[in-house]
Amino acid sequence: MDKPCSSFPCFSLSLFLSLFTTTVLAADPDLLQDVCVADLNSNLKVNGFPCKADITADDFFFKGLANPGATNTSMGSVVTGANVEKIPGLNTLGVSLARIDYAPDGLNPPHTHPRATEVIFVLEGELKVGFITTSNKLFTKNITKGEVFVFPRGLVHFQKNNGAEPAAVIAAFNSQLPGTQSIGTTLFGASPEVPDSVLTKAFQVGTKEVDKIKSRFAPKKI
Ligand code: MN
Repeated sequence: MDKPCSSFPCFSLSLFLSLFTTTVLAADPDLLQDVCVADLNSNLKVNGFPCKADITADDFFFKGLANPGATNTSMGSVVTGANVEKIPGLNTLGVSLARIDYAPDGLNPPHTHPRATEVIFVLEGELKVGFITTSNKLFTKNITKGEVFVFPRGLVHFQKNNGAEPAAVIAAFNSQLPGTQSIGTTLFGASPEVPDSVLTKAFQVGTKEVDKIKSRFAPKKI
């Protein structure tokens, strides 16, 4: 019969492994009660949102994905989130959805979600999709209605409508608020601006090229 794990090295290893599992394999933290509907107006700062006292079925309801979003954007695509900011009942549950609509030739430009893996299901149309690993290897595929594709957590990915018709997907995330960093906007539309000296060296181009791209991503002046 095996001895119980009582020696110091054995105990330390078990502790390390359990901590490793909790901190590395988990996405959003696990919940500690049945529900914790987000109080989006609270001034308290916590990881996620504080729970509000009076809740109804509407806190778990959202109809905003029923219809296509307007795709007359500079990229020809629009993302409609169904995350904790729209559905307060998602607070602490570690999941959310989005709907993405694409005009013909529309692009959901390269971006990452720091807090979630994404799985998309094609509602309509045809898309070229892909993600790039940290070894700079591109995995890409053409997908069509009814098909599914996965974008692993944190990796840069995109979807492009190469079809002649509009396209749409439902995206699922293992986070109540996956967060999105769009590469172009992050680097060329940040406020305050990322210095030209950083971008010219990073992209191996001149100030003129950098300023041209910055002008395309500049926040719209009202
Ligand atoms: Mn995405």
